[in-house]
Amino acid sequence: MKYAVIKKEDLNKWLEHLKKKARLYAPRKKENLFIFRPVKDISEVCLDYIPTILPPKKYYYPQKEKLFRFKINPFKTSKAIPKFEDYILFGVHTCDIAGIQCMDVVFRENPEDPNYLNRKDKMIIIGLECLKYCDEYANCTSMGNHIPRGGYDLMMVDLGKAFIIHINSEKGEKLVTGLNYIKEAKEEDMLALERVREEKKKIFKEEFNAPLQKVYEAFDKSFNSPLWQEVGKKCVACGNCTAVCPTCYCFDVLDEMELSLNEGLRYRIWNSCQMDDFAKVAGGEDFRKGREARQRHRYYRKFKYPVDKFNRYFCTGCGRCTRTCMAGINLVETVNLLLKEAEK
Ligand code: SF4
Ligand code: SF4
Repeated sequence: MKYAVIKKEDLNKWLEHLKKKARLYAPRKKENLFIFRPVKDISEVCLDYIPTILPPKKYYYPQKEKLFRFKINPFKTSKAIPKFEDYILFGVHTCDIAGIQCMDVVFRENPEDPNYLNRKDKMIIIGLECLKYCDEYANCTSMGNHIPRGGYDLMMVDLGKAFIIHINSEKGEKLVTGLNYIKEAKEEDMLALERVREEKKKIFKEEFNAPLQKVYEAFDKSFNSPLWQEVGKKCVACGNCTAVCPTCYCFDVLDEMELSLNEGLRYRIWNSCQMDDFAKVAGGEDFRKGREARQRHRYYRKFKYPVDKFNRYFCTGCGRCTRTCMAGINLVETVNLLLKEAEK
C-alpha cells in the first residue's frame, strides 16, 4: 500500500493506537504559541499550528545531554552511549522534516555522532503537509520545503473530511496496516490530493526575489557588504535565533566536577555563534568579535557554507528566527536586500 486514508473522526482512535506503540510527541497549544510535547491526553494534540517555539530537535538533539560520568582515580567512565526507545514525532511540518534531514547530513559526517544517530534510528516521523502559510515569516517556498521531499515515514495531507497518508517506509506501513479504520486510498482520493496540490500553487509563492542559485551567488559577493553592519547594530546577541533554528547544531562540551574533584559529569550543551565568546580562542583572540561578524556568520551558515560543503541549504524556511527576534531582524528582508545589492 502506497497511500492510505483515515477519516477525521477516526484520528483520535489512531492517536490512541500510536500512543501504545511508542512514546508519542505532538504539537500542543500553549497560550498563543505552540510547543511539541509528549502526548498524555489526545485532546491536547493540535494540528492547526504555526511552527512550535522550538522545533522537535529538542527530542533528537537535547539542549543539555549527559555524555558520561567519570572518576579520575582510579580512572573509570560510565557507559557513554545510552540506549534509546522508539518514539513518534506526530504532525511534523515539512520544513521541520527538512531540518532533520540537515541534522542527518551533519551528524553522519565522519566522525559520526552516535548519540544523535541512535536517537534518529528510533525516530518515526509522521508529517503533516501545510496547505496555507503558517504566517508572514515563513520562507518555505523559496527553500522548496513547502512540499514534502522525503525524510518521513508517513505524510498526512488534509483532504477535508479525511487525511490521505503517504506511506514512505516499512516503519510507517506498520503503523497503518491492520487497522479497520485506515483504508487503502482509492482513485478519487488521489484525484482529491492532486486538486489540493493545485490549490496550493496559488497560495505559496517564492518569498525571495530571486531563485536560490542567485541567493547563493549574492552571498558569494556579500562578505564585505555594509548590510552586515546594519544587521549587527540591531542585534542584541540574545541567541534566540540559533536556539529555535532546526538546523543549528553547535554545542559545547563541559565537565562538571564534584566537590571531591575526583568525580564528575561530562555533558554537551547547545551553544550559539551569536554569543560573544563563541569564536574566542586561547590567547584571547576572537575571530568574530562584533555582532555584525556573528550575524553574517549565521547567514553564511545557512546560504553559503553548507552549500559548498554538503550541497544543501541549511535554512528550511520555518521563519522561526524572524518570528522570535526581539530586534526585528527579518531573514527574508535581509536576503532580499543582499540580492538587490548584488545586482548593482
Ligand atoms: S534573535 Fe535577533 S537579536 Fe537575538 S541574536 Fe538572533 S538576530 Fe540577534
Ligand atoms: S535560518 Fe531561520 S527560517 Fe531558516 S531554518 Fe533557521 S530558524 Fe528557520
